[in-house]
Amino acid sequence: MKLKWPARLGTRLALSYVLLTASAMILFTGGTATVLFLQMRAQLEHFAVEDVETVEGLMSFTQDGHLKFNDDYHNHPESKQVLERFLEVRSLDGTLLYRNDRLGNLGLGGVPQPGEGVGGYSQRSGVLSDGTRVVMVSRRHLLDRHPILIRLAQSEEPVWHARQQFLLAAALMFPFMIAAAALAGYRMSRRILAPVESIASQAERITSSRLHERIPVHGTGDELDHLAEIFNRTLTRLDESFRQLRQFTADASHELRTPLAAIRAIGEVGLERDGTPQEYRELVGSMLEEVNRLTRLVNDLLMISRGDAGAIQLNYASIAVLDLARDTVSLLEPLAEEKEQKLVLTGDEGANVQADPVFLRQALINVVHNAIKYSPPRMTTSLCVERVNPHSVTISVTDAGPGIAPEHAAHIFDRFYRVDTGRSRDAGGFGLGLAIAQWAVQAHNGSISVSSAPGEGSTFRITLPVNGTA
Ligand code: ADP
Repeated sequence: MKLKWPARLGTRLALSYVLLTASAMILFTGGTATVLFLQMRAQLEHFAVEDVETVEGLMSFTQDGHLKFNDDYHNHPESKQVLERFLEVRSLDGTLLYRNDRLGNLGLGGVPQPGEGVGGYSQRSGVLSDGTRVVMVSRRHLLDRHPILIRLAQSEEPVWHARQQFLLAAALMFPFMIAAAALAGYRMSRRILAPVESIASQAERITSSRLHERIPVHGTGDELDHLAEIFNRTLTRLDESFRQLRQFTADASHELRTPLAAIRAIGEVGLERDGTPQEYRELVGSMLEEVNRLTRLVNDLLMISRGDAGAIQLNYASIAVLDLARDTVSLLEPLAEEKEQKLVLTGDEGANVQADPVFLRQALINVVHNAIKYSPPRMTTSLCVERVNPHSVTISVTDAGPGIAPEHAAHIFDRFYRVDTGRSRDAGGFGLGLAIAQWAVQAHNGSISVSSAPGEGSTFRITLPVNGTA
C-alpha cells in the first residue's frame, strides 16, 4: 500500500516536524553512543598498556627458572589492581609461564603469533571462551635475558553495558519525545496557519458589493502580512475597476438618454401640430442630427469597450508620422476653415514609427479636432512632428484656445470628463475623445500629456516609441 501525504497543510507541517525530530534523535543517540563507546574503549586500551608496564616491574625469575610475581600488596599496592586483569605470560615458543587466577583456564591466544607484541604493543579486541568481551594488549619483554610475551586483557563488558544502558534510556525517552514533538508541531502549525485561515475566511466574505473591505495587516512584516498586502492591493485595483465600470455604465446611459429624449421630443412636436412639408423636413433633419450624434456615441462606446476587452488587434506597419499628420490636417481643414482658423504643420520627414495607422490617426484626429473645436475663430493650431531621440517620435498639437486649468487637466483623459459640460455638448462632444486617444496611444506603448494654463492655449504631446515597444 502506498502511503499518502496528508492533504491538510497543518497535518503535513506537524508530521514533518515529528519526522524531523525522530530522525534527529536517532542520529544523535546513535552518534553519541558510538563516540562514547569508542572513547571508553580507547581509554580501556590505554589503561591496559599502563598495566602491562606495571606488570613488567613486578616480574622476576626464581632460581629454579619459575616466573614469580611480586604480589606483596603492602609494598606494591598496584599489584592487586594489576592482578585483577586477565593476565598470562608465555615464553616465545609458547610455553605458558604464568596465568593469573582471574584468567584461570581461559586462554588469551596460545602460541605467540608472528610479530605479536613486537616494537611496542599489539592491541586487539576478542572474546574469551566464557563469552567475556575483552580488549587485549601484548608486549614482548626481556626478563633476566629471557624473552617473554606478556598478554594482558581488560574486560570490555562495562563499556558494552554502559552503551546498552544509554541506548535503553534513549529508547524509553523516544516515545515521550515524539509525543512532545507531535504536540509542539501541531500547536506550531496551528499558530502559523491561523492567520492564513483568517485571510481565507475574510477573502471569502469579500464579494463584489463589499470590495471596499480590506484584510487586516498586523504590521509584523512577515510573509503573511505581505500576502495580506498583496491581496489588499488586488482588492483596491478590483474595487477601482468596478467603480469605473459602474461609473462608465451610468455615464453611458445618461449620454444615451439625452439624444433619445431629443428625438422623442422632436417626434412629439411633429405629431401634435399640422405643419407644412418644409416644417416636417426640418423636424426630420433635426431627428437625423440626433441620430448621427447617437451613432457617434455608440461607435465611441463600442470602441472603448472593445479596447477594454482586449478585442482590438493592432496591425503594425511602418508609418511616416509627418504623412499621417498631413492626412489629419487635410481631413480637418474644412472644419477649421468654417471658423476661419489655420492649421500649420511642420516636422521631420524621416520620423517613422511602427504603429497601426488607423488607431494612431484616430488619436491625432481627436486631439486636433478638440484644438479647432475649443479655439475661438481666426486662431492658428500648429502641429509639429519631431524625432526627439533615436527611440521616440513626438507629435505636438499647440492651440491658442482657452487653455485648461490644472484641476481639470488632471482629468481630461477620463471617460465622459468635460470641463464645461454645456459648451462641450454644444460642440458635439461626449467627453470620450481624449479617453480614446489615450487608449490608442498607450496601446502603442506611447504616452499622451497636456501642458496648458487658462487663457494661454494648450499643447498636447503624443510620444511614440519608434519600434512600437516602450
Ligand atoms: P469632448 O468630446 O467633450 O471634446 P474630450 O475627451 O475630447 O471630450 O475632451 C475632454 C475635455 O477636455 C473637453 O470637454 C474640454 O473641456 C477639454 N479639452 C480638450 N481639448 C481641449 C483644448 N484643446 N483646449 C481646451 N480644452 C480642451
